[in-house]
Amino acid sequence: MPSTDSQVDLRLARSLVAGAGRIVAMTGAGISTESGIPDFRGPNGLWTKNPAAERMSNLHAYVTSRQVREQSWQARLSHPGWHAEPNPAHRALVDLEHAGRLHAILTQNIDRLHQKAGSDPERVLELHGTMFDTECLSCADRRDMREALARVRAGEADPSCALCGGILKSATISFGQPLDPDVLNRAQNAVRAGDLMLVVGSSLTVQPAAGLVGLAASNGVTVVVCNGSETPYDRFAAAVLRGPLGAVLPALVSARGDDLG
Ligand code: NAD
Repeated sequence: MPSTDSQVDLRLARSLVAGAGRIVAMTGAGISTESGIPDFRGPNGLWTKNPAAERMSNLHAYVTSRQVREQSWQARLSHPGWHAEPNPAHRALVDLEHAGRLHAILTQNIDRLHQKAGSDPERVLELHGTMFDTECLSCADRRDMREALARVRAGEADPSCALCGGILKSATISFGQPLDPDVLNRAQNAVRAGDLMLVVGSSLTVQPAAGLVGLAASNGVTVVVCNGSETPYDRFAAAVLRGPLGAVLPALVSARGDDLG
């Protein structure tokens, strides 16, 4: 039987991955949808279904509207990330790391599922922060998120900083908020030190994170994109894989050759 296009793409991507010695993964919300955490822009994305929800991720809206903050705390309380478990795509990246070939994961995710799957926390760079901590927007006091959520459950609809009374927010990067320059710098260095960038589950529409793919391409780093839908950076990729990540990633990094169909 002749091979289908997707089998040809998978073979090409596998040979590129198999030949790489310093892989850097760049992950987005799409890697966690099969763990039950919806993405923003995929077919079942939070913003695809409810465009108004975008306001909760906007720093200006958060700072200026108490209503947005109250909605954000309620959404945080019921976030599926508290109980989510890693899926085979997260575990495939752990396998690649254990094989000594993955030196960094640059993640846009805030759900800590890479660390929960067993990726070395030192190698995971959280470009957009984490939902597991809070940070005061005035004095930068940082604490465990559980403290703020306990206050919300106890009736404070919009808890303020316990130290200075400033506006409290999850330690995630909202639109309009700069990335931590140290984290971004380390991510750029990791890209330059790599020989292959594996993009996993990102629409690559959020800057400056998406620009790391452009940086890879301009530094001669081979780019492989695994994403369910088209991205603006597909044209830089040596191979593009479209299937569901929980199946695609294990097939891509597997040492065996009998799962190629
Ligand atoms: P995005 O929503 O813009 O894009 C996700 C992409 O993943 C889409 O193109 C979609 O087609 C693809 N996808 C979804 N499920 C897939 C699957 N099972 N198999 C293959 N492809 C799949 O997400 P983004 O590019 O990461 O940017 C959104 C921003 O939202 C990021 O900054 C991130 O911080 C934040 N976010 C994080 C989480 C999380 O931590 N899990 C969840 C939602 C949003």
